[in-house]
Amino acid sequence: MDRRHFLQHSGALLAAASAASSARAGTAFAAPAPLAPIRATPDRLIDISVCTRPFRPQGPRIEAEQRYGKTLVHNYGHGGSGWSLSWGSARMAIAMALTTREKYLAVIGCGAIGLTSARVAQRAGLRVRIYCKERPPEVRSSLASGVWSPDSRICSSEHATPAFAERWEAMARASFKTYQSLLGLPGDPVSWHDGYVLSDVPFGEPLPATEDNGEPDYPDLESRLRDIRPLSVALSADEHPFRVPHVRRYTQMVFNIASYSRLLMEDFFREGGEIEQREFVHPRQLAGLRERTIVHATGYGARALFGDDSLVPVRGQTARLVPQPEVDYGLSWRGHNLFVVPRRDGILVQAQGPHDWNNEDVQVDRPLSEDAVARLAAAFAPRS
Ligand SMILES: Cc1cc2nc3c(=O)[nH]c(=O)nc-3n(C[C@H](O)[C@H](O)[C@H](O)COP(=O)(O)OP(=O)(O)OC[C@H]3O[C@@H](n4cnc5c(N)ncnc54)[C@H](O)[C@@H]3O)c2cc1C
Repeated sequence: MDRRHFLQHSGALLAAASAASSARAGTAFAAPAPLAPIRATPDRLIDISVCTRPFRPQGPRIEAEQRYGKTLVHNYGHGGSGWSLSWGSARMAIAMALTTREKYLAVIGCGAIGLTSARVAQRAGLRVRIYCKERPPEVRSSLASGVWSPDSRICSSEHATPAFAERWEAMARASFKTYQSLLGLPGDPVSWHDGYVLSDVPFGEPLPATEDNGEPDYPDLESRLRDIRPLSVALSADEHPFRVPHVRRYTQMVFNIASYSRLLMEDFFREGGEIEQREFVHPRQLAGLRERTIVHATGYGARALFGDDSLVPVRGQTARLVPQPEVDYGLSWRGHNLFVVPRRDGILVQAQGPHDWNNEDVQVDRPLSEDAVARLAAAFAPRS
């Protein structure tokens, strides 16, 4: 995330901090168990990936239209929030599809949005066939960081009308509820973890302004979800191992994307779902499908397929360090362009590049990740 976005993200993690501090005042705390340090060296990088977020300034497109004698329900454009909002977004799209009373549904796309659309349709009693160019783990969704980030690059501030905010909140709450039903399963597809926000300056103080990289302002929507967000707390120096003066602990929902995608696919097949590998180069090809109701969930692919030029590619690079099962906490460092997620398939290290906005280049920039790993190591350096 860019520094502005990083600040917002940290802000979301910290928003409940003052409430938490007062809640904490009357609570007796046991001495914290020491944190297992992350072995942050570049030789332990096992994978570096790049993909683009399908950002639409006006927010995701979830609407139905009639084309080629079919009912076509669009469900794409979820920016940095696709996994987080997927179940709620799918519910909205499938409610539109169900109005046709057709029993057979085609879903175009097998990423976070297509798969959850397919599952919601199956639960509603439909027979579903997915048509897609790629399936997990080849889809872009498989390259996400894997945290609950429902308002990450979901629309620009100028489009965040009260009606949009209400719709977004309904999607986020529906998704959150579904995710709570996926906890505690084998392989931990969804889990909750603590994390630490590090800061060189007091949390109330802004960080120095950074260069404008072209990103718009994003609205703070997540404050609408205060009641479903665990509180964060300020820690004293003897409660954490980091060498920075200001640290808060938060708690966050994490998606272990490899096992979670596999679970979605298994559930889809178990309920009679079928997948046909196919690339569409023109919407006209939809006319030839057997199904008369279609959910269109091609993510950034909608730009080429439907000519939706409002989709902006926002490049994102993630790297994974060798898994350390003993590391079960996340980390972010304000102003240092560092975000870490404790996943079962490796410790994910994310850093924003200088030219990520409106950039569909998916070439790996290894030095970017190596620098992030060096900053991570610095967070654990002994205090002077
Ligand atoms: C670095 C990074 C980190 C992220 N982290 C998070 C996070 O922590 N939490 C979160 O909620 N979100 C996160 N996101 C955002 C999230 O990854 C996206 O919002 C999500 O992947 C979008 O899913 P999708 O199903 O719309 O698209 P995709 O995953 O791209 O799936 C599109 C599907 O459509 C198919 N398709 C495309 N075009 C065609 C065509 N012409 N014909 C046939 N099939 C086609 C593809 O093959 C694929 O199956 C992150 C994104 C990035 C880049």
